[in-house]
Amino acid sequence: MNWMINTVRSWLKGSFNGGDGHVGGSSGLVEGVKEDKEKRRMDKLKEELSLLLYAKDEEEYAKLFDCVVCCGLLIEPVTTCKGYTACRECYDEVRSEKGWGFLFSRVDWKHAKYVDVVVRELVRNYYGKELEVLKSLAEGAAVDPEKEPVTKRSVLAEIWMYKAKRELANEDSAQALHDILMSVALVGSLNKRTAKVLSQLKDGTDGHPLFSDGILSGIRSEVDDIPQDQPLSSLGNLDIFECFCCSELFFEPCTYPTGHTVCRECITRALEVTNPTSGCAAAPVCPLTREPLDDFAAWVHANPKNLKTNRVLEKVLREQAPREYEEWQANAKKEMDEFMSEDGFVPIFVCMIAWPGLRCNLHIFEPRYRLMMRRCLESGFRMFGMCSSVGEPYSDVGTMLYIRKQEVLPDGRSFVETVGLRRFRIKERSHRDGYNLARIEYFEDE
Ligand SMILES: [Zn+2]
Ligand SMILES: [Zn+2]
Repeated sequence: MNWMINTVRSWLKGSFNGGDGHVGGSSGLVEGVKEDKEKRRMDKLKEELSLLLYAKDEEEYAKLFDCVVCCGLLIEPVTTCKGYTACRECYDEVRSEKGWGFLFSRVDWKHAKYVDVVVRELVRNYYGKELEVLKSLAEGAAVDPEKEPVTKRSVLAEIWMYKAKRELANEDSAQALHDILMSVALVGSLNKRTAKVLSQLKDGTDGHPLFSDGILSGIRSEVDDIPQDQPLSSLGNLDIFECFCCSELFFEPCTYPTGHTVCRECITRALEVTNPTSGCAAAPVCPLTREPLDDFAAWVHANPKNLKTNRVLEKVLREQAPREYEEWQANAKKEMDEFMSEDGFVPIFVCMIAWPGLRCNLHIFEPRYRLMMRRCLESGFRMFGMCSSVGEPYSDVGTMLYIRKQEVLPDGRSFVETVGLRRFRIKERSHRDGYNLARIEYFEDE
């Protein structure tokens, strides 16, 4: 969709840069005043237009592919490490603005932002030929929203906006007002772009009240006559949701800074084997593009909860494959339950002798033990067995340790502070993902 970014946006910008650009080189104070003013202006506009704005969750499905910033059609979608998706243009625009910090992580700042490949594909599938209409408009075709073969509200809203801008250029402000209000009402919310056009209209009227009740209710009923978007149904097969790493349906899809998506578990596991001290070290890279991701890895290691699920994808998945998604969730829960169950197996760290009541500090660097620690902590179990490596395959007795504290280093290694709880005897051995498990029986030392 490069044509969009290059033509639509540059055209929009070129036509409407008066008075609304950033104040270059100004002091923080001026920026603050300007932001306050802009916020007040937006709030006032919202109040005046409340008849056209509806609650965001009123039509969930229609909002699936909308930009978190402009609420409009997602053009060149990019997804931040916090899991939010915005148009590339909107993303760039709000990066330095107050109030949008929640969208970004520090990794987003460092990386050039790539298009979210899966979301872009979904948008194309969902809107299909309707996007062609926008393309021809960008190339200068005549605009007539009522004649275009378009049914999706987000696309219609874009078309009305085009029309409004052309009318503004021709100084037909009555028609421009009608058209921009149509755009607002179709999306059901005000965004920066529509607000910009409205403010231009207002400036030209010497404070004359623009939004009479008559105009607004007229627009509202015009828009109410337009059928709602159909729920997603025709996305066809689910191949697009297949994870590159595990070849399963995405579960908790998370998007790399490179714009590629895999399951949360797949990202976490891939990063676990990227420790230079682990002996099987590989530099952290995107599994698809091989682009180095050291800072991303450090950020995830610092706290695995930093990584957020791609909201758009998760919503679509829940809708497109609810049964599969629920199965996955149930499996993940079962795995956790088994991990925690009392008569089940407990994870075993094979290293040294530990004693009840005594502190035991560990340096965790092997990928398998990093995985084990993470599971211990995430499950809330916070315990594992410690057995000495004396014996075949390891000692028959050990001590349960309780994890008091974990300090993760940027490269994923960690220092874990534990304290010994009770002695146990091994009853049955097993293993999972490279580390040992055992069914145990507690005993008291004489
Ligand atoms: Zn946007
Ligand atoms: Zn996966």
